[in-house]
Amino acid sequence: CLPLSSTSPPPRASRSPVLNTGLFINNEFVAAKDGKTLDTVNPSNGKVIAKVSEAGPEDVDLAVHAAEKAYNDVWSKTSGKTRSRLMHKLADILESHAEELAQIETLDNGKGISFSRGFDVAELIQCFRYYAGWADKIHGKVIDTEGAFSFTRHEPIGVCGAIIPWNFPLLMLAWKIAPALATGNTVVLKTSELTPLSGLKFASLVAEAGFPPGVINIITGYGPRAGDALARHSKVGKIAFTGSTNVGRLVMKAAAESNLKKVTLELGGKSPNIIFDDADLDEAVKWAHHGIFFNHGQTCCAGSRVYVQEGVYDEFLKRFSKISRDTKIGDPFDEGNFQGPQVSETQYNRIMSYIEHGIKEGAKVATGGKRHGTEGYFIEPTVFTDVKEDMKIMQEEIFGPVVAVAKFKTLEEVIEKAHLTEYGLAAAVFTQNVTKALEVSALLKAGTVWVNCVNQLDYNTPFGGYRQSGFGRENGKYALDNYTQIKTVKVNLTRSTR
Ligand code: NAD
Repeated sequence: CLPLSSTSPPPRASRSPVLNTGLFINNEFVAAKDGKTLDTVNPSNGKVIAKVSEAGPEDVDLAVHAAEKAYNDVWSKTSGKTRSRLMHKLADILESHAEELAQIETLDNGKGISFSRGFDVAELIQCFRYYAGWADKIHGKVIDTEGAFSFTRHEPIGVCGAIIPWNFPLLMLAWKIAPALATGNTVVLKTSELTPLSGLKFASLVAEAGFPPGVINIITGYGPRAGDALARHSKVGKIAFTGSTNVGRLVMKAAAESNLKKVTLELGGKSPNIIFDDADLDEAVKWAHHGIFFNHGQTCCAGSRVYVQEGVYDEFLKRFSKISRDTKIGDPFDEGNFQGPQVSETQYNRIMSYIEHGIKEGAKVATGGKRHGTEGYFIEPTVFTDVKEDMKIMQEEIFGPVVAVAKFKTLEEVIEKAHLTEYGLAAAVFTQNVTKALEVSALLKAGTVWVNCVNQLDYNTPFGGYRQSGFGRENGKYALDNYTQIKTVKVNLTRSTR
């Protein structure tokens, strides 16, 4: 695969023929001021792939100042038409490096190569094309006002900060950077310390597309150091965060304690997947499997609580257990495997301790529950039954290939159960009755409700949480609102003296 190894040279200014491991500031790769680095690990075998720079507050400050200067000197004066052209160019360049990007994503994150290619990288490119289309369509309204000509301007915020997780590194980067650029902002984005490599590859293509220095800055580093410094920086006007609910709270606090920057939070989930007696069972089984095991369960909207109506419960469980047991696990570079390793040893241990806890609390393992293989962080797809709503495995986001299946009798009962966690990111409902599907989708407190499918994300449909799954919407036209501020201009049309 990639010519990277633990012997990769320490970060230094650009020119690496392989993959730059420095901080991307002002279109150049630079080492962290204090020379610190962090290791990124291949989850398939636990070995270090490379050392990348570990940004500290001083580096964050440099990146923010680069972004501020680029905004003031160039980007705020760059037309929507030009921004659109640059974004399209970047999308074309990304496309010509698609395979390399996919390989890096699979190496660093462990997701299956066909998913990296067909979903993560494909959506990255499409997201840039979609928002490139918006760049010259950002405009306000004329408002009828007595005695005045009133209109609104949708203006950029300036420097936008972004902090992303490790589960979809390139996709999360696209969801943040593309709308920010389209609306005329400059960006400083911090990748996850667990998966910094694809963001660095992306960064290496930015200058080639013609973006002026400082418009896009990508830094690598840890959350409590670099992430906190970014969330607190007084020159950052908006921070977009995707990650856990606990860290989301810290980001919001940092924003409040500094300059009250605007905040959007895309947080965790514990999404219910409701299967009624009248569902097409073949479809429901297939989607329920995809709903939890796609990306090895490391999906914020994963259908981790499956509620099945009593009439089809036994049959569903039989088929679902079988398809889960038969899931192909192994080397993510092998196209035949559906599931690869969990992203890190910490995540592996965390998931295994949830499984142990579930067993201790009295839930039954219908299939899975154990480590797969002897090397790397692989876990068998695990299906729990006999669960109670107050169990830890029913309340907390496990973020791994672990699902709980529970029985319900009535629509009212399942809606009540669906709402028994603090989250509200997504939900799914399986029924062939359109009236029931619409009734249930209206009742569910979730930012997305899928009917007869799960985990279907598109660059043009809004995505975000209800309740403690966050606020703000990414994707689609809605995301543009996160990156603009509205100014009213009122021109007096009356004359006091004639
Ligand atoms: P995390 O919250 O641990 O980390 C997310 C990012 O925040 C990382 O870049 C990390 O370095 C940074 N961070 C950590 N501490 C910080 C601090 N004090 N200040 C600022 N930044 C800090 O989450 P994770 O483990 O990387 O990702 C998994 C979580 O992300 C899950 O909860 C998942 O549901 C959520 N997620 C949500 C969505 C969504 O759209 N709602 C999408 C993907 C993932």
